[in-house]
Amino acid sequence: MILPLLGFSQYPSIENTNAPDDMTNQRQKMVREQIANRGVKDKKVLDAMLKIHRHRFVDESLRDKAHNDHPLPIGEGQTISQPYVVALMTEALKLKSDDRVLEIGTGSGYQAAVLAEIVKEVYTIEIRKGLAGKAEKLFNELGYKNIKVKYADGYFGWTEYSPFDAIIVTASANHIPPFLIRQLKEGGRLIIPLGSTLYYQTLTLATKKGGELEVEQMGGVAFVPMIGEAQKGR
Ligand code: SAH
Repeated sequence: MILPLLGFSQYPSIENTNAPDDMTNQRQKMVREQIANRGVKDKKVLDAMLKIHRHRFVDESLRDKAHNDHPLPIGEGQTISQPYVVALMTEALKLKSDDRVLEIGTGSGYQAAVLAEIVKEVYTIEIRKGLAGKAEKLFNELGYKNIKVKYADGYFGWTEYSPFDAIIVTASANHIPPFLIRQLKEGGRLIIPLGSTLYYQTLTLATKKGGELEVEQMGGVAFVPMIGEAQKGR
């Protein structure tokens, strides 16, 4: 599949910090080869990933690797997810422009930025203070006004702004936190890497129907673990 070269003029809302730059070719190659060629079709997801300056979400020393086909370290032992996994998870949520989405595990902030390009409001929770602060600062620099960051244990969700149209958990757990199920709208979708091993999990998509979850497995992934309450007594 060959992607059309997309103009960027249709995005006047965010400052030109997201405008074409010397990494544009690398982003186009990343989206074409790693994402579109592997079957991700949602144009909103492809456009968001073409536009967002992914290299801004990693340390300067790693910027030349920012578009590689694997996760990268972001400090405190955590990682920014592989571009394809970000695309796959975002597409699976079938997002609409007026949706409100909750993310657990802000990390670098890249996934939240992808969501923020597509939906109306993004709420993201990070349990590591340093990462939460850094991501919030970057969102301000890049002009994102529709992302709210909270430094807390995401296991409990964000009641104040619930219910959400979609929830994305970007750290692994061996069960779906019940608070998140409660905070998901009827008909809403939740995606989470589920598994009991430290290194491999099954990407699991759950849809809330009649108060129950309809669950679909989407394949193997490797995420860092969800810490805090998720690990207590289990
Ligand atoms: N979405 C991120 C990548 C996530 S890495 C990105 O786009 O870069 C997983 C993140 O989940 C880490 O930053 C980790 O600190 C965070 N995390 C782990 N347990 C958590 C919890 N209980 N609540 C909120 N965040 C958590």
